[in-house]
Amino acid sequence: MTTASNPRPETASDIASLYVGGTWRPSASGGTFPVTDPATGAWICDVSAGDAGDAAAAVAAASDAFPGWAARTAYDRADYLYRAYEVMMSRQEELARVLTSEQGKPLRAARIEVKYAADFLIWFAEEAKRVYGQTIPSARPDQRFLVMRQPVGVVGAITPWNYPISMITRKLAPALAAGCTIVLKPAEQTPLCAIEVFRILDEVGLPAGVANLVTSDSPASVGEVFLTDRNVAKLTFTGSTEVGKLLARGAADQMKRVSLELGGHAPFIVFEDADPAHAAKGAALVKFLNTGQACICPNRIFVHRSISETFIEVLRDRVTALRAGSGLTEGVAIGPLIDASAWERMAAQVSDAVAKGAELVCGGQRLAGEEVDGGYFFAPTILTGVTPDMRIYREETFGPIAPIVVFDDEKEVVEMANDTTYGLASYVYTRDISRAMRVSEALRFGIVGINDINPTSAAAPFGGMKESGLGREGAQEGITEYLETKLVGLAL
Ligand code: ADP
Repeated sequence: MTTASNPRPETASDIASLYVGGTWRPSASGGTFPVTDPATGAWICDVSAGDAGDAAAAVAAASDAFPGWAARTAYDRADYLYRAYEVMMSRQEELARVLTSEQGKPLRAARIEVKYAADFLIWFAEEAKRVYGQTIPSARPDQRFLVMRQPVGVVGAITPWNYPISMITRKLAPALAAGCTIVLKPAEQTPLCAIEVFRILDEVGLPAGVANLVTSDSPASVGEVFLTDRNVAKLTFTGSTEVGKLLARGAADQMKRVSLELGGHAPFIVFEDADPAHAAKGAALVKFLNTGQACICPNRIFVHRSISETFIEVLRDRVTALRAGSGLTEGVAIGPLIDASAWERMAAQVSDAVAKGAELVCGGQRLAGEEVDGGYFFAPTILTGVTPDMRIYREETFGPIAPIVVFDDEKEVVEMANDTTYGLASYVYTRDISRAMRVSEALRFGIVGINDINPTSAAAPFGGMKESGLGREGAQEGITEYLETKLVGLAL
């Protein structure tokens, strides 16, 4: 089932890639879909194409497993997660190679992602034991109030391709820790990472039906089951704002619980008191992270006029030095885009901006050459003179284009930064502590990095305001998304 260039060892799960009720099996229809390497276009293998019937079977298995799993002690549930953490870390290199081959990011970044994914397993193994309740004093002497936290039930989870391992464990670990059971539908571009995660769960002996996997290339049909099957109590989704809204609307019918991690349009603000070279280095790192395909990537870089020249110079030097190619090649910093439609979006946003007066400092076109011809490579790009009427000022880019806007004062830049329907990540570079506090309070974003391009961790709450989503993942909050609050009133 594997090509010679595919680093992944052959496994029985290549075709029998649905994991339902503790058993690997093909889709009921027998259908499959191909997985390809976005850096070369090469076929890697085929996996099972689950459909609505398979999803319903998986929900039934999760539903059967729920009472038994919820009744176990938190210590018992945590133990499976802890073992899964250990196995995942022992396979870090192997998993990183699978990740790079189907998603494209450089191997070094893939290793970091595997560690990040494993962090959620151990974090929530620990949090499982800290699901505390409360007693509340009553105004009546003969009454007692007791607040309990209980698992919501069966969870339907849908994950994206850009972080194909960590976005799974960020949902799976808190769900399992809380006592929920789960059905996961991973992105059709990256099912192999999901298969690897479920192989680990299988190996650590997770009871049958507690976690189920439906690989599929017909996401809407699986999503429909999650929305309409009364056994699904909660939907958790990471992906585009467009699909998130669709799912939230659908979930309203049965008032299912929803957690949504959606798009972003991060402002990156560099004040006049910041070191422009240091800020430019930070901007290059976070903008081109995962080839710009992260919801926390800056989408508008605001630089104070007095330091803009130095900032742009340093950024250009760093960006033009980024080497593109297959993530499996040593020294490569820029992987491919995920597919042809991303390519088209890049070209459209650049040509719209240039037509409306932006200046192209570097990049702006597809890359060509022996190392990149097979994949969807786009040159790392810098645009200056970006204005609010340009598409790139409003639309999420999700690719390697850095749009620069020059500003003159703090009030103006905070207003511009907040002028978006999104509200996920934001970044501020300043050495003035009062300004740092003032601006982080004024920004309408769920995450603010102050001189910090990586304000993320399994221990920290991740999530957005406005149309960037609902709820938080990771941290203490992460497990509460999978818990119901129950009040018990007791009359003596
Ligand atoms: P992107 O455009 O970045 O691929 P999507 O929101 O389309 O983002 O995809 C994120 C996840 O949502 C993937 O697992 C995808 O299969 C799934 N998805 C896409 N459309 C639907 C839908 N109509 N219903 C349910 N899931 C969907």
